[in-house]
Amino acid sequence: MTPSRGHGPLSRDIDRILIGERQIAERVRVLGEQIAADLTGSDGSLVIVAVLTGGLVFVADLVRALPMRLRIGIAAVSSYPGRATKSRGPELVGALPRDLAGRHVLLVDDILDTGRTLAMLRAEVSKQGPASVGTCVLVRKQKPEALAMPCEYVGFDIPDEFVVGYGLDYDDEYRNLPFIGTLRAEVRR
Ligand code: 5GP
Ligand code: MG
Repeated sequence: MTPSRGHGPLSRDIDRILIGERQIAERVRVLGEQIAADLTGSDGSLVIVAVLTGGLVFVADLVRALPMRLRIGIAAVSSYPGRATKSRGPELVGALPRDLAGRHVLLVDDILDTGRTLAMLRAEVSKQGPASVGTCVLVRKQKPEALAMPCEYVGFDIPDEFVVGYGLDYDDEYRNLPFIGTLRAEVRR
């Protein structure tokens, strides 16, 4: 599939759309149903922790697919400096929510790549003594490290390629594309 409509100048930088807008919307709806079913009875004690900045768009859609009482917290993590397309390891920027003891915590990120971001956050959150810690990503790369990382909710498995859109950036741009796609080689400098 090649991008054709909307987001003109941005779309022109896209080589291939891997996951389209409608496909994402449908999957988010189903993930919401699964999470809600798994957490029946936890009403009022769920905290969704959005991993920023990449998880922003996904979280915004996911929480609206969750019908139960919940709170939203943020964890700002930086792993890709500027134009790098290889992670240099996650770094927590600022503090985690502090009131996670006894609560069901669901960490929500855009993508599972090396798994280091979610492993680090899971360990940090666990120190507070939550009732449970789960992880949810929209996409997971089909690479050994990602597949070996426990993750309760995965939207899509994709090939091990650098992708942008729906929260995912290149040099902090392209996050606002409503689909997930690969960048044209000329754009990645
Ligand atoms: P991990 O710690 O699992 O290696 O990496 C997770 C973080 O790296 C994600 O939250 C995301 O910000 C970034 N990342 C990993 N793969 C990609 C990718 O293909 N494209 C973009 N834009 N960011 C990625
Ligand atoms: Mg990120």
